[in-house]
Amino acid sequence: MFPPRADAGASGDDGVRPRRLDDFIGQDELRANLRVYLDAARERGKALDHTLFYGNPGLGKTTLAQIMAAELGVNLICTSGPVLERSGDLAAILTNLSRHDLLFVDEIHRMPIVVEEVLYPAMEDFKLDLVIGQGPAARTVKIDIEPFTLVGATTRMGLISSPLRDRFGIVARLEYYTPEELARIVARTARILGVTISPAGALEIGRRSRGTPRIANRLLRRVRDFALVHGNGEICEEQAAAALQRMDVDKSGLDLMDRKILGVLIENYDGGPVGVRTLAVACGEDVRTLEDIYEPYLIQSGFLKRTPRGRMATAKAYKHLGLGLR
Ligand code: ADP
Repeated sequence: MFPPRADAGASGDDGVRPRRLDDFIGQDELRANLRVYLDAARERGKALDHTLFYGNPGLGKTTLAQIMAAELGVNLICTSGPVLERSGDLAAILTNLSRHDLLFVDEIHRMPIVVEEVLYPAMEDFKLDLVIGQGPAARTVKIDIEPFTLVGATTRMGLISSPLRDRFGIVARLEYYTPEELARIVARTARILGVTISPAGALEIGRRSRGTPRIANRLLRRVRDFALVHGNGEICEEQAAAALQRMDVDKSGLDLMDRKILGVLIENYDGGPVGVRTLAVACGEDVRTLEDIYEPYLIQSGFLKRTPRGRMATAKAYKHLGLGLR
């Protein structure tokens, strides 16, 4: 009911998104647990518990929500926190749900508090408190809604209020993928796209994808273009490496902006500490993009440190950029 996500539309998902839990690669523990929860919900004939997925962009939160709906054989209704501006927006969606439908709310941390409050009784008792009238004459009526499952996704667990968090029966964190898992994802996508790629070629892309399937699939599409124009269309390790080099994705998967962030930190601020806002301005990047997209991977892979006084480059960052510690 809302516009498809950026990676589904114009660039074409091409059937690449896994549709079943068995096609979903990696996150083994989470996948095994979900299998149990889904089977149990089906067995009991009840709606699945409300589920909250958190993790960085592109790790598979939306994909899992779609898979859950498909496995349960129910409708999936998608919306997102920023789209739900007024409590009526959410009430309209909730009253339209059919029994056991799955409502997916992306970026749930960006939902206004007035909308969030509508969710509490809906999640807990499948009821809506509607306020009718205004001023002293206003009164509340409770109306029943169909039992449903809310699946929330967030990149910022810390911004979810605890009353909301406590109402989720299942809370799961998506981790970065290993290069080997990403290589399997690349090989699967290549098969779907009809591209020939060697295992070493897939691993080379997997190694440089910042632990993220969305990036792995994007890099594969671009490497495929290079292989088509400069080779015979088949992708081997050397070709993958050369194409990625031309796209400015280095051996650690860092791109131009990652290296700019580290470079600015080291060259302009002696390696830090420097506040995230200052760093964002100096790099010409928006603070939220810096915090949500770039930082997590730089921190996870040991190039950047978050300290109470600000961000700091690590010795590994100096070494990676070929700069000496001062
Ligand atoms: P998120 O909602 O966390 O931002 P998505 O679910 O939209 O991420 O995933 C981004 C893309 O990565 C999807 O189009 C999907 O094709 C691919 N993808 C994500 N996780 C996996 C996985 N475990 N196995 C295969 N492909 C995946």
